[in-house]
Amino acid sequence: MKTECDLLIVGGGLTGLVAAWRARRAGLETVVVAQGPGSLPFTSGALDLLAVYPTETKRYRVRPWEAVSELIETEPNHPYGRVGLRGVRTAVEDFLSYLEASPLAYYRREEENMAIVTGAGTIKPTYAVSASMKKNRLAWSQRKPALILGFEGLADFAPEQVVSNLQDRWNGLRSARLDRTVLLDSSRRLTVAQLAADFERREFRDRFSEAVKPQLGQSKFLGLPAVLGFDRVADICRDLEEKLGVEVFEIPLLSPSLPGMRLADMLKRDLVASGADYRQGAPVEKLEAQGKEITVAHRAGKNRSEQILARHVVVATGRFFGRGLEASQHGVRETLLDLRVEAPQNRDNWHMSSFLGAPGHPINRVGVRVGRDLRPVGTDGLPLYENVFVAGAVLACHDWVREKSGAGISLATGHAAVESVLAHRRRANKKDSA
Ligand SMILES: Cc1cc2nc3c(=O)[nH]c(=O)nc-3n(C[C@H](O)[C@H](O)[C@H](O)COP(=O)(O)OP(=O)(O)OC[C@H]3O[C@@H](n4cnc5c(N)ncnc54)[C@H](O)[C@@H]3O)c2cc1C
Repeated sequence: MKTECDLLIVGGGLTGLVAAWRARRAGLETVVVAQGPGSLPFTSGALDLLAVYPTETKRYRVRPWEAVSELIETEPNHPYGRVGLRGVRTAVEDFLSYLEASPLAYYRREEENMAIVTGAGTIKPTYAVSASMKKNRLAWSQRKPALILGFEGLADFAPEQVVSNLQDRWNGLRSARLDRTVLLDSSRRLTVAQLAADFERREFRDRFSEAVKPQLGQSKFLGLPAVLGFDRVADICRDLEEKLGVEVFEIPLLSPSLPGMRLADMLKRDLVASGADYRQGAPVEKLEAQGKEITVAHRAGKNRSEQILARHVVVATGRFFGRGLEASQHGVRETLLDLRVEAPQNRDNWHMSSFLGAPGHPINRVGVRVGRDLRPVGTDGLPLYENVFVAGAVLACHDWVREKSGAGISLATGHAAVESVLAHRRRANKKDSA
């Protein structure tokens, strides 16, 4: 089977989805091939931009854009340095404006990071959250009396742990658990998915509200694990607030997590509706080149093999989690094109002697080295391919875990890679017409 397209995106994680979204808006015929769902379904769904910088000082930054500017000044090889401040701003602004207008109604504070309560009872700094977590920020910033409510039998969430970790900083914070009689079918094992399905039903929300009301006392806020339905979470939150007369918010749980899944599902649905071709399952096994141009991608399915004839390729295959990079005793390699990876030569230098040492382990910064337009470069600094661009976690010179910059890097570089594709096309068209 053969398909032709303007742009092939390899990878269906957040980076690939952002790149595809930008490409469709520019009218490019776009094919996305994803071996798996990437890390998005495992995330809190909260989008980090940059919350800790410089990382070795572990300094929490209230104003992320100031921190991004400083980082770009001092680390030009960081993905943000490659894209530049204006490019990062445009990418984040464009994509978040779309998410704000979506059914998930994302929320941010433009110039400031926010702090939200997690299912472990820690405080997570982040840049943007879905509507269901907007009041999570408000609850923590106001710290008025609040009830954190769990469900008897739901192993993924312990409200007592949240309260015991936060009560010395939050007066009037209490925990409780609802017993199983409130469930529509109390004979089943209780899971996040089952609760989410129950919350989608008005009948359940009525029963739930009747059972919760007597427990609220003086509470101004009600914090629940992130189980408030699948794609109608904003409406469900509003409905519960009306029924209960308190502010309701979701608390993100440990992986896998419903807010991350909701975001991934919505992005894929919108992409397909916009005309993108999204294929999940079999990976791209090989990219074939003519000179310095990739021309054909090969994908082997169970019963048939496919060829995708692409004019441009964006590689958004993630790091070790997404399988864009592979580590062995011989070193770290990029899995799709064997691109040049920037990593400490000697394995002894992958790690520091202190486990949680302030600068972070050098292995966390490995990845593909690219030039300003995100094309992969060789040791001479020149592009290895004319029509290949690299974006997202697979890039070198960042430590998203410590920086708290995971989603921001995906947004900035996914967007910028497509801008580079568009610039490349314009140059090629000019040449053809000259
Ligand atoms: C557990 C966890 C929690 C996180 N929590 C947060 C958070 O709360 N907030 C935040 O901002 N960031 C968070 N992050 C970071 C953030 O999710 C990632 O930095 C970001 O999503 C990376 O996206 P990516 O698309 O570059 O890579 P990935 O998400 O890894 O996606 C890579 C994609 O490439 C595909 N792929 C690889 N090779 C091939 C191939 N040959 N053919 C086809 N497809 C291929 C994979 O199947 C996958 O679809 C978290 C990450 C993890 C792992």
